[in-house]
Amino acid sequence: MLDRPHPTPSAPTLDEKTLANALSTQHFIAGRFVPARSGKTFPVVNPATGEAVGAAADGDSADVDAAVQAAAAAQKDWAKLPARKRGALVGQCAAILTEHAEELARLIALETGKALRTESRVEANVVADIFSFYGGLGGELKGETVPFAPNVLSVTVREPLGVVGAIIPWNVPMLLMALKVAPALVAGNTVVVKSAEEAPLAVLRVCELLNRVLPPGCFNMLSGFGPECGAPLVAHPKVRKVTFTGSAEVGRIVSKTAADKLIPVTLELGGKSPMIVFADCDFEKTVMGAITSMRFTRQGQSCTAASRIYVERPLFDRFVAALADKVNAMVMGDPLDEKTDIGTIISPGQFEKVKAYIDEGIATKGAKAHVCSTMPKEAGLKKGLFIQPHIFTGLPNSSRLVQEEIFGPVTCVFPFDDAAGVLEAANDSEYGLAASLWTNNLKVGLDLAHRIEAGLVQINQNLVVQANLSYGGVKSSGLGKEASLEAMLEHFMHKKTIMVNYA
Ligand code: ADP
Ligand code: MG
Repeated sequence: MLDRPHPTPSAPTLDEKTLANALSTQHFIAGRFVPARSGKTFPVVNPATGEAVGAAADGDSADVDAAVQAAAAAQKDWAKLPARKRGALVGQCAAILTEHAEELARLIALETGKALRTESRVEANVVADIFSFYGGLGGELKGETVPFAPNVLSVTVREPLGVVGAIIPWNVPMLLMALKVAPALVAGNTVVVKSAEEAPLAVLRVCELLNRVLPPGCFNMLSGFGPECGAPLVAHPKVRKVTFTGSAEVGRIVSKTAADKLIPVTLELGGKSPMIVFADCDFEKTVMGAITSMRFTRQGQSCTAASRIYVERPLFDRFVAALADKVNAMVMGDPLDEKTDIGTIISPGQFEKVKAYIDEGIATKGAKAHVCSTMPKEAGLKKGLFIQPHIFTGLPNSSRLVQEEIFGPVTCVFPFDDAAGVLEAANDSEYGLAASLWTNNLKVGLDLAHRIEAGLVQINQNLVVQANLSYGGVKSSGLGKEASLEAMLEHFMHKKTIMVNYA
């Protein structure tokens, strides 16, 4: 077995490159760093420069088995702790995460190309908030009393499911992991996370930090590729629940394996989220809202990105011009530079995929693209995976750009004439994750909010996932909820009925 290259610093560090190196080549199992059983690793690349900044352990089924066995061994004792004690420990994790927030922000910016000021720092702070939120919910794992018959006491109690397998993507990996790990642990489960191959290091640091508080084996982490490491995790007989965030395509594969094992699965998949703008909206706020909704600061790499924007016809030209102007003023550049608004695409594969959509849009008859902002000029960023934001108008509804999730800085804007028409267009999608409506007429807004096919609808704002609010889609966007009390109770626990006949 390989030795660890360097010990990780225990105090927060702002030297992200040294930290990336120190975290390299390891899984985290049963409270300690361990290399892959095979000894294999794969490079972790900074997408802004093309340079390798570290390496990750390349996990396979042998590593999966070791991690799941560790989680299973830890689970019984963890579940025996009083629920509020488990919550208190998860709450203590929040304090450590807050102390290390800047370090985590820099590390995630390095490996994902997400701008530090606009994205990475925000993510690091939300992660701590999610642990803090769930840490307070240990006392809420309540059951019910059920009327049955005289002299029979009938109650339900909530119990953990056992070992949870969690598979996460690369776009907001620390946050999406927190949404799974924190509630799973408070509920009394133990967890094995399979990180995304594009972003394995910051989440590994989070895992190490949490293990300063949690008993060994409660929270384990593997890096590796989907078919070799993710699939055996889902298939492992001791994994009794799977929670997955990623593409609809892989979600279906995960769901089939879970069905064969008859275990519950939560799926947070893609989106093609509509933003609907009425002429009576607060104009400036709505234009800024479109920038946030489209997650332009994350290069549009968000499942809730407003990649279809419908604008009431009288406002259409003015809105498109104002949006293009504002996006034009955004700064593309080095993700770690405080001046930067927009960083890079995650990987060469995604880069090519997004470029192909853009080329297809530009070649479409009648379509027009506003190409915004400016490519960075620094020599060191020449190989960076930068793509300018594209705002398309004039695309037909049948276009792939309108129907498929692009996961890049590309949005399509359409005019509409009435509420019925825009509702039909908005619902004409395979997906149903999120939607936003912008109007000062709450009657119109609320009426549409009830009829839009989406798990989350916001009027006159479009925030990212928030602790305490259930998050999750309908249609091909997934199954189940995250981020709330309900999510913990319904998706990480089962209810047992106990009856006592005292006649
Ligand atoms: P994307 O590649 O677009 O980010 P994916 O759905 O492919 O989205 O990946 C999300 C997560 O699912 C990643 O951690 C990836 O490694 C994992 N994954 C991919 N294929 C499988 C699979 N067959 N089984 C389990 N996990 C997988
Ligand atoms: Mg993939």
